[in-house]
Amino acid sequence: MRLSRAFLPTLKETPAEAQIASHRLMLRAGMVRQTSAGIYAWLPLGWRVLQRVEQIVREEQDAAGAQEILMPTIQTADLWRQSGRYDAYGPEMLRIRDRHEREMLFGPTNEEMVTDIFRTYAKSYRDLPRNLYHIQWKFRDEIRPRFGVMRGREFLMKDAYSFDLDHAGAVRSYRQMFVAYLRTFARMGLKAIPMQADTGPIGGNLSHEFLILAETGESQVFLHRDLLDFDVLSQSVDYDGDLSPIVDFWTSRYAATDEKHDEAAWAAIPEAERVSARGIEIGHIFHFGTKYSAPMGLQVSGPDGKMVVPEMGSYGIGVSRLVGAIIEANHDETGIRWPEAVAPFKVAVLNLKVGDAATNAMAETLYRAFDPDAVYDDRDDRAGVKFADADLMGYPWQAIIGPRGAAAGKVELKRRATGERVELSLEDAVARIK
Ligand code: ATP
Ligand code: MG
Ligand code: MG
Ligand code: MG
Repeated sequence: MRLSRAFLPTLKETPAEAQIASHRLMLRAGMVRQTSAGIYAWLPLGWRVLQRVEQIVREEQDAAGAQEILMPTIQTADLWRQSGRYDAYGPEMLRIRDRHEREMLFGPTNEEMVTDIFRTYAKSYRDLPRNLYHIQWKFRDEIRPRFGVMRGREFLMKDAYSFDLDHAGAVRSYRQMFVAYLRTFARMGLKAIPMQADTGPIGGNLSHEFLILAETGESQVFLHRDLLDFDVLSQSVDYDGDLSPIVDFWTSRYAATDEKHDEAAWAAIPEAERVSARGIEIGHIFHFGTKYSAPMGLQVSGPDGKMVVPEMGSYGIGVSRLVGAIIEANHDETGIRWPEAVAPFKVAVLNLKVGDAATNAMAETLYRAFDPDAVYDDRDDRAGVKFADADLMGYPWQAIIGPRGAAAGKVELKRRATGERVELSLEDAVARIK
């Protein structure tokens, strides 16, 4: 993308309403625009990152055996009356009436709808197990939307729903999602820790929240220090095999949010091994048995011909919240430092003298080598502006080309994460970035 033609509306001033770094930086970098309280438009840079995050989530869900669908945002109140949640959900639910006075709502989650879809088709034990997920906008009328996309009212969530014949199967499905979550967040460069969690309004008895540590997090968390050094991605995973060793490994150390915190277990951990910190919830997995399948009449015939009520679980990831969370974990005073896996563009080519023939030629060549994963700063602007914008927007690499370097056939490469700089030939620069 050529910056001379791009819609990247950066802000010079720090917006007063933004209380935390990620919100400030997303506004300054022109990633999002708040259109009303807790509701955001995603501008080109932000939209690219959101899609990259979404794609990692999708790949890991698919790898774990979940199948993607797309359910609507608008639901009928009838379904929620069947589960008994229509009245229980309270003011966080945005309730709507259509022209025929039918009660509708903007979905805050989809347990009822997916159970309705599944009960229509699933007839026998052969239709199980299944795991269906979608990545769709949700609405929760949060009392205090804040921190930008971290606590929005409209937000993008991946929610998966598993259906199993019995408890052992449900635990297997739960473990598949547990492991998929570890991999998903690790691929984004995040250290997400699974922690024992409350099941809240969804109910049930087996639940983990995945959190990253951050001073601005809204949850208080307690964990064993070892968890911060556990590795995820070096291990290959067989989702059809026994996943209990991985889950047991991760649950072998204490980790809990304040709702589940157990002072006695905590006191038993040597003080030097305890970490008590703030955390951001980026994912949450629940097993809730027949909480929805039973009242909604989902039944299949079992192997012996008797009817069985499937056990279910649900598994959420805050896709749009993750964009903010990744910035919280990867920034400095000058701007964002995107991990490569989610960066909007891999490299920014900074032309320091637009119009100089040798500089233009070299910059064009480098830009074309990485397009569409490159931005080309071909604006007629001062070098200082280009450096500041590239630092703010946080591209992993900056390729800086000026007339002196171009004459000598040299590019200056800067790694955003470390600030490290090297001068290389064009060819070596391309190889280094790749
Ligand atoms: P929170 O405790 O932050 O209110 P939650 O426990 O209500 O979140 P879940 O019902 O577990 O949320 O939804 C799954 C995921 O959706 C959460 O782990 C979080 O990442 C994301 N999420 C929930 N509410 C919001 C929101 N208002 N804005 C952005 N993401 C959200
Ligand atoms: Mg909530
Ligand atoms: Mg929560
Ligand atoms: Mg939750």
